[in-house]
Amino acid sequence: MFSSAEIGIDLGTANLLIYTKNKGIVFNEPSVVAIDTRTKNVIAIGNEAKQMIGKTPQNIVPVRPLKDGVIADYDVTAQMLKAMLKKVSKKLGHSLRKPSVIVCTPTGATSVERRAIHNAIKEYGAKYVHLIEEPVAAAIGAGLPVEEPVSNMVVDIGGGTSEVAIISFGGIVSARSVRVGGDKMDQSIIHYVRREYNILIGERTAENVKMGIGHALVNHELQTMEVRGRDMVTGLPKTITLSSSEIQSALKESLEQILEAIQNTLENCPPELSGDIVDHGITLTGGGALLKGMQEWLAGELDVPVHVAPDPLACVAIGTGKSLKMISKLQKAAK
Ligand code: ADP
Ligand code: MG
Repeated sequence: MFSSAEIGIDLGTANLLIYTKNKGIVFNEPSVVAIDTRTKNVIAIGNEAKQMIGKTPQNIVPVRPLKDGVIADYDVTAQMLKAMLKKVSKKLGHSLRKPSVIVCTPTGATSVERRAIHNAIKEYGAKYVHLIEEPVAAAIGAGLPVEEPVSNMVVDIGGGTSEVAIISFGGIVSARSVRVGGDKMDQSIIHYVRREYNILIGERTAENVKMGIGHALVNHELQTMEVRGRDMVTGLPKTITLSSSEIQSALKESLEQILEAIQNTLENCPPELSGDIVDHGITLTGGGALLKGMQEWLAGELDVPVHVAPDPLACVAIGTGKSLKMISKLQKAAK
């Protein structure tokens, strides 16, 4: 019986994950959609669309509708969600029509932006849409005891934003969202290479450099990587070799902004709660948690234990999934 599917969605700025009660994570692809500007039709979604970035003819535009941490383009987000849900339905061999949906929203989202997310999912035909705060989903997904009377700090470093939150008794006690995450790091690498080498590299190349040799610590085992770009003087392709210490310096500013958000949250935290955090430490989730040296660097700067969640990229989706159980209770309450 699949008359009322229950699904959880992590509508991330970089990746969109869909979780179903029976199957776990059934979709995990970049939040990218390629649109034909002449017909407004969706040409490709997810991995396929991401591969098109920087390579398409003029009439096909790969779009990241959630680029800056919120829904920047409502229509495109709705189209992307519909296409992704359709793909999942096909894969599962049954329809996900009229699902009950639980979806996370960034803490920095305004009520208008929350409404936009809600409406985009309703438009797909969802019977019921419940929004959950992203850090709460991240904490649940990381396996933290959120319902207990101890406070936990979660730092979710995503593509568009980093969210810092203190959670106690299942709710957010204090939170901060900064529009600094993986995308900004990629941009810093692009700027660095342009400034130092007069070479233009694309976003995907920059992301590969970050994941390949990016490091948060000044002192680390040096690595190098060959990168191809366009020489801005000659206009011709050129290959250069970048070192991990150059990338570390390029990432420094973004990393310090994330650190500052954590420090501010800790400073404004009620003393009883900060005691818990010093004891239990901070848990990192989101793709940014995978940057080499991130955990050690933050632990050193903050003088507080720092842990990386078991599956940082899937944490939020797992958390929305675990909170699906609450959906029927909430539906009853809403009647
Ligand atoms: P969102 O929730 O905004 O969709 P994610 O939590 O999925 O974001 O994280 C995506 C970001 O994490 C991207 O900017 C990606 O480049 C970055 N990322 C993924 N893996 C790594 C890695 N190994 N090192 C550094 N950054 C990474
Ligand atoms: Mg996320």
